[in-house]
Amino acid sequence: RKKIPKTPRLCNKGCQSYATISDSLRHDERAVWAHLEPILKEVKEQNPSVTTLHFMSDGPVTQYRNKRNFYLLSTLPFLWGFKEITWNYSEKAHGKGAPDGVGGAIKRCADDIVKMGTDIQTPKDLYCTLQENTSSTIRYFWISEDDVSRHDDAVPSQLPVVKGTMKLHQVASQTPGNISHRELSCFCSRGGSHCNCYGPVDVDFNQEGSEETASTSSNSTRFNQEGSEETASTSSNSTLQPTQNNTPDLVGKFVVVKYDDQLLVGQVLHLVENEIEVSCMRQTAGKNSFMWPETCDVIFYYMSDVQAVISEPEPSTNHSSKLCSPDWEKFKEMM
Ligand SMILES: [Zn+2]
Repeated sequence: RKKIPKTPRLCNKGCQSYATISDSLRHDERAVWAHLEPILKEVKEQNPSVTTLHFMSDGPVTQYRNKRNFYLLSTLPFLWGFKEITWNYSEKAHGKGAPDGVGGAIKRCADDIVKMGTDIQTPKDLYCTLQENTSSTIRYFWISEDDVSRHDDAVPSQLPVVKGTMKLHQVASQTPGNISHRELSCFCSRGGSHCNCYGPVDVDFNQEGSEETASTSSNSTRFNQEGSEETASTSSNSTLQPTQNNTPDLVGKFVVVKYDDQLLVGQVLHLVENEIEVSCMRQTAGKNSFMWPETCDVIFYYMSDVQAVISEPEPSTNHSSKLCSPDWEKFKEMM
């Protein structure tokens, strides 16, 4: 069970929590913007004097920290009337923030509704039920599959490579299609001009993507190519987790990863800098019995979440596999 912090105190004076619900399972950067759109439009509508947006998020490559998101943050908000945008990436393990509190509040609310005898079977059910719950201070938006796929057209297939993507912590835009990024966030300059602290680097997306190495292949291939380009351009950075260069080739290997205090067994699909894509198996309640779930459980983890490399689980029954004894002992010790 996930530990959920206390519900944040929500008030409507200068503070509003939002939650978006969708039956789309996509969580790439275009989907992220489909979810952001109604919120940002409402913020602008209700507060026309707001011109600057500051985003605070964690930094998974697949969702927020990639050139397609940089492009979107430097274009879409301008269409909606904003004039300046910064996106700030926290490092992993910097605690849970307000979004986790909102998510937790919604889960508890849904649990209570189910306990009272109402069925919630689909995301749409959840959305409708929550909408009716007038005591909630959270505002809800429904995001359809169409809303998400509409955003696919918002990103050109060719974008210049943004060097240093894995190290940057702030991306800012004041001109559509232009960003400046740097390794640390700074907010020392307020009111229209962005400061020059920590050597910001400019990128102009309006210029043809001549540096683009990949054409239009699958996302994962493109991440890989972006990743390797990145590795080549960063000479030394001791704070980075092991990278492709100094990590034994983990692709295809089985590993134990930690996720929210839970240990998972899975197979490595990709390595991108200090992140690792793993397809995880499902464990039968504390037993040495692991199965591939019907729906693939594929997530990017940080390399630092990898607890051990193990050998491929052995088939035990028709449907499940087990870890060999030494691996199982190791696994139990880590629990
Ligand atoms: Zn500054």
